[in-house]
Amino acid sequence: PKTAVVGPLVGAVVQGTNSTHFMVFNSKTAELLSHHQVELTQEFPKEGWVEQDPKVILQSVYECIEKTCEKLQELNVDIANIKAIGVSNQRETTVIWDRLTGEPLYNAVVWLDLRTQSTVEILSKKIPGNNNFVKSKTGLPLSTYFSAVKLRWILNNVSQVQKAVKEGRALFGTIDSWLIWSMTGGVNGGIHCTDVTNASRTMLFNIHSLEWDKELCDFFEIPMGILPNVCSSSEIYGLMTTGALEGVPISGCLGDQSAALVGQMCFQEGQAKNTYGTGCFLLCNTGHKCVFSEHGLLTTVAYKLGKDKPVCYALEGSVAIAGAVIRWLRDNLGIIKTSEESEKLAKEVGTSYGCYFIPAFSGLYAPYWEPTARGIICGLTQFTNKSHIAFAALEAICFQTREILDAMNRDCGIPLSHLQVDGGMTNNKVLMQLQADILHIPVIKASMPETTALGAAMAAGAAHGVDVWSLKPEDLSTVMMERFEPQIKATESEIRYSTWKKAVMKSMGWVT
Ligand code: ADP
Repeated sequence: PKTAVVGPLVGAVVQGTNSTHFMVFNSKTAELLSHHQVELTQEFPKEGWVEQDPKVILQSVYECIEKTCEKLQELNVDIANIKAIGVSNQRETTVIWDRLTGEPLYNAVVWLDLRTQSTVEILSKKIPGNNNFVKSKTGLPLSTYFSAVKLRWILNNVSQVQKAVKEGRALFGTIDSWLIWSMTGGVNGGIHCTDVTNASRTMLFNIHSLEWDKELCDFFEIPMGILPNVCSSSEIYGLMTTGALEGVPISGCLGDQSAALVGQMCFQEGQAKNTYGTGCFLLCNTGHKCVFSEHGLLTTVAYKLGKDKPVCYALEGSVAIAGAVIRWLRDNLGIIKTSEESEKLAKEVGTSYGCYFIPAFSGLYAPYWEPTARGIICGLTQFTNKSHIAFAALEAICFQTREILDAMNRDCGIPLSHLQVDGGMTNNKVLMQLQADILHIPVIKASMPETTALGAAMAAGAAHGVDVWSLKPEDLSTVMMERFEPQIKATESEIRYSTWKKAVMKSMGWVT
């Protein structure tokens, strides 16, 4: 039977650290019609290093698009109805490639990678004038997290990159740029661009003027000729040149956390969302104002949905390790076979029995920004078993979010009354209940957790006259809410939280 599909369809690539998805939505109702997902591996060539192969990432995108189109055809949906494609991506991850061969010149250095610790130390001693030089322009603290230092490291250490830069063949980009350049033709006229949200994570971008900053590029010694052209998050960048969707415009681009903010419809100042993926990222929309944090949060570009539309900013609390700790329990310790099993184990015991797990695998991000921290599991007794450790791992994600929320409340002055959440891990009900208990406010989950894809699709659709501003949560047939209310006494969560903080202190200073 023919499936009744009204109105144009919009596709969204979601390129995450853990996996790639392609999803196709009905642009009128935001109903998800079909999708495909490919899980990705990461390479850990040395302690603290995290890499991915840019070609494997690109291939995963093509595979997801092809498989999704096949599934749509099986549903009798005409893929010619797909009018636009949005891209949302893991941020900061740094790719450098050869524009003449289309080949990456080095593996992608993933945002979690710690190899640049000494690069950061050297740079921090060179900061000109006052210490605020980088932060006042970019909203970011000098850290291993952002692209500029990763790019500096590559330029210092990889001879084929040095050679390609000299010969004018090298192009730099975050994952969005690499994908869009490749999907719009690559060596045959690929478009080398990025959007303001991704640019704002490179540490080379001035978030006030919305341009690459010459002084920052001089400071990091980055040749400006390798940087992509910066566009808004919603405009036609170019057309797909291969595959089932050849000829379809790519017209939306947002870093994954910005896409989730848009997908959760946090368009009002003061609205916030928290996304639980590999890491955990709480973003609060601060409207047209850049708000600078006094408590370890970042200032970042939230979105700019059109060339002539105003820019909106966000305060962001970034937690490096959230879902990644569950993946670590699966892949490194082998105490669970699937991520979902963490819920079953934690539920069995309902407590960590005094065990605390600080997953500072990549140092600690917000609010501490402490690269010397490393992971610890403490409070163990002979009674402790793997279920307690699984519980402690889930609880760690909640405590880290609590630290961010406290910082956000201090910076914004008005405490959040509830927390909107999304991302792969929000299917874990034990995690969601624990989060409500530890924050002591309700946690509200969009029952369609694909808000990142929805945000990218909305940005892409907007460039074709689908007015995202008129979409309201109640219009979205599939975005229903699930609420988790705090179930323990505030005094109990305070005691647990203060023990967590004690454990955090013990995780610091492990490496010097
Ligand atoms: P990303 O956007 O970073 O690629 P996802 O949103 O796909 O991440 O989330 C995947 C992460 O969440 C993985 O690290 C996985 O271990 C974890 N995860 C997914 N489902 C669950 C679950 N039910 N319980 C606990 N962890 C989960």
